[in-house]
Amino acid sequence: MGQPSKLLLKLSRRLFTEERDRDAFVEALTNPQPFPSAIVWVQPRPEQVPFAIAPALPWQPAWVDRLTPDQRPGQHLLHQSGAYYCLDMASVFSAAILSAIPTPVKAVLDLCAAPGGKSLLARQALHPDHLWCNEVIRKRVRILISNLKRCGATEALVFNLDPQLFAEQIPHTASVVVVDAPCSGQSLLAKGDSALGCFHPVNIKKNASRQKRILAHTAQTVAAKGYLAYMTCTFSLEENEQVAAWLMKKIPQFEAVEVPALRDHASPLASFPCYRLWPQSGLGAGGFTVLLRNRGESIEPLNLDFLTAHGMKIYTSEASS
Ligand code: SAM
Repeated sequence: MGQPSKLLLKLSRRLFTEERDRDAFVEALTNPQPFPSAIVWVQPRPEQVPFAIAPALPWQPAWVDRLTPDQRPGQHLLHQSGAYYCLDMASVFSAAILSAIPTPVKAVLDLCAAPGGKSLLARQALHPDHLWCNEVIRKRVRILISNLKRCGATEALVFNLDPQLFAEQIPHTASVVVVDAPCSGQSLLAKGDSALGCFHPVNIKKNASRQKRILAHTAQTVAAKGYLAYMTCTFSLEENEQVAAWLMKKIPQFEAVEVPALRDHASPLASFPCYRLWPQSGLGAGGFTVLLRNRGESIEPLNLDFLTAHGMKIYTSEASS
């Protein structure tokens, strides 16, 4: 077992009042254990699934299978043929807030989309008429397009733009905006990955400022009565509950919405509904998720010129040859 840093111990004291919870949290981050992975079926599930499947969790959609830890779904032919997308259960947990959104849904905008997991989860959960996937870092756009294409999401439009441009060009337009924000990545430690400086206050502050900047722009793009889904894969309060509280204070027309499927995961660290998965649960590396609803009234016409001018179409091999 690795030695916990002073900053990790300090964080554990802020997150938990009980010593045994603090110890379990610290242990999960310093002594990583394998987590079950998940597959998101984007084509009808075959009658015989060629993997050992773990029992479904209450917040797991019917089109997701949780696998036992020793499975390698990324190496199977069904993966190559685009039958499913592989991700971790923490992503499925974060996206479970989408279950509280009434359908039908006109347009989903995923602002931090690469490599594409949340876009595909949103597509399966909401079946939007329009799927707009944005990735600000150019070199990550290729993997986003490749995953969307492999999984048959060829109706999606892909963008490589700063979130501010959406706020300026398509205000109050998207029925659902997903922000799976860049963060300090503390949960990566639970998977045995490195996350340099993830507990350092300067790094956390830098991430929190970036998250607030992204959200301030994002909020402008949410249609009246639409939803903003905010999530991270980190544990610090400053990047999670405090960011959501900041947004609701800055733009009071946003309110946090209860997600019945996640009732057992309500964060004890906020006075509004939001949800946490802890790494010591054994279900996934962990994260934070909150669903905000725009109570506003303003309605804007859809700026199709902007979307068609900047959106990259995903061509199938038949269409592009
Ligand atoms: N949603 C993705 C998925 O489920 O596959 C993972 C997203 S990852 C947690 C965060 C993403 O935010 C990264 O792709 C990163 O390039 C992008 N990002 C980094 N800085 C950003 C910024 N200033 N504005 C918007 N996105 C940013």
